[in-house]
Amino acid sequence: MLSDDELCCGPSLYIDGKWTNALGGGTRDIVNPADGTVIATVDEADRADAVAAVAAARAAFDTGGWPATPVSERVGLLLRIADSLAAERDRLARIETLDTGKTLRESYIDVDDVIAVFRYYAHLAATGADRLVDIGDPAIVSRVVREPVGVCALIAPWNYPLLQMSWKIAPALAAGCTMVAKPSEVTPLSTIALVRLIDRAGVPPGVVNLIQSSGARVGSALTDTPDVDLISFTGGAATGEIIAGKAARHITRVALELGGKNPHIVFPDADFDSAVDAVLTGAFLHSGQVCSAGTRLIVHESIADEFVAALAGRARAIRVGPGLDPASETGPLVSEAHRAKVEAYVALGIAGGARLVTGGARPDDPALRDGSFYLPTIFDHCHRLMRIVQEETFGPILTVERFTTDDEALMLGNDTAYGLAAGVRTADLARGERFTRALRHGTVWLNDFGYYTPAAEWGGFGRSGIGRELGPSGLAEYQETKHIWHNTAPAVGGWFTDN
Ligand code: NAD
Repeated sequence: MLSDDELCCGPSLYIDGKWTNALGGGTRDIVNPADGTVIATVDEADRADAVAAVAAARAAFDTGGWPATPVSERVGLLLRIADSLAAERDRLARIETLDTGKTLRESYIDVDDVIAVFRYYAHLAATGADRLVDIGDPAIVSRVVREPVGVCALIAPWNYPLLQMSWKIAPALAAGCTMVAKPSEVTPLSTIALVRLIDRAGVPPGVVNLIQSSGARVGSALTDTPDVDLISFTGGAATGEIIAGKAARHITRVALELGGKNPHIVFPDADFDSAVDAVLTGAFLHSGQVCSAGTRLIVHESIADEFVAALAGRARAIRVGPGLDPASETGPLVSEAHRAKVEAYVALGIAGGARLVTGGARPDDPALRDGSFYLPTIFDHCHRLMRIVQEETFGPILTVERFTTDDEALMLGNDTAYGLAAGVRTADLARGERFTRALRHGTVWLNDFGYYTPAAEWGGFGRSGIGRELGPSGLAEYQETKHIWHNTAPAVGGWFTDN
């Protein structure tokens, strides 16, 4: 169990500035995927709790004065949150590791990213984006101003719980929106801890509300209501489809950050060792539970055998273990249910004729028996039409396809319904430039993989979503644009005669 000190226990729904239990008395046990133990029990909201949270956010927006708060106050709040996150860095990283299974090293990277994101949006809020338009008539003052979009439903997944929720809360606060945050029911602990810090930083009642529950229980109260002005959702494409459908009923704005099936293309002129290392990390970091994981290797035929052999050697050496153990290089899958899904994909790969090079099994170390661990897995000689090549397995499964010409590599790199991220490795700068422009993905890495920064947009083409997080666009998601036309010298227009 997490200690009370670590979790700041007590009621875990936060509605209208008060910590409260679920109205229906529901609770949910949160399980450590590294050993199957219960680490905390949190409140499980019902529809009535979600409705109350939306009502609190609505009132705080419509009559609570938050949208009109001076920018300096919002900036001050964001910076206080960033400072308290920095002060609680160790506790937050430990919570994230216990809840998600990821290694402590990864959790520290997430917490540091979250701190940077709150600071970045404090900076951006202070900068402003309003502009004057020159109409050519000195009597007319034409201004385009940004205003908060309103009440936001913020729905996040389990793989980067603190980080994904912060990518939403920070810009929403910066813009002057009010919000209901719903983390994944599988991994809510770090978001509860974050909202406790936001509460202590002095956010006014109703501006930030928090509910935990499954999408089935509370989803429609957040997504099928005219009281919510924007739904910002990060999660699977199938859930994104449902949410977009609900939003359409009320013409609610949607921002969707969905899945990916991300190609990593390797040319024979690329530096061999750094390419092997980047493909390995891109595919197996966080046991492949990364939306931008590079799980589709597209490698030139001339180096494919040697490349796959080197990769397999490195993959076999990856130390799979509990995230809190400093010796572990990657942790377990998030749950038994998720491991079953990954195992079903491995079975599909074998049945489809892909050649299993390594992995394809649970680790045989008895110390790992109670956790949802799975070995890094490589399938060679895959075909573009295989389901393991086209679908997001969200586990440690790397598929390998071979190409011979640049055009074939490009065709395969764009051969996906998704379009979140792609990597290309080559020493030929002209080819690199051609590929970075021609690959239809929201992020393209040239001779690197997996990096991002709060100041640059993140999001996907195609089925990977709608809209962008991070960067200036990540703030614009939470803003309406208004044109104000001010005639400083009103006079009779004379369009119609008055006799
Ligand atoms: P999921 O779609 O199952 O759940 C995501 C969230 O939606 C959870 O909070 C869940 O409770 C909620 N939800 C489920 N049904 C709902 C409904 N009907 N109405 C409202 N909310 C509902 O996704 P997941 O399994 O938690 O996360 C994994 C997915 O997230 C992967 O597909 C991954 O690629 C994607 N992801 C994308 C990004 C990105 O930046 N594009 C980042 C991280 C994760």
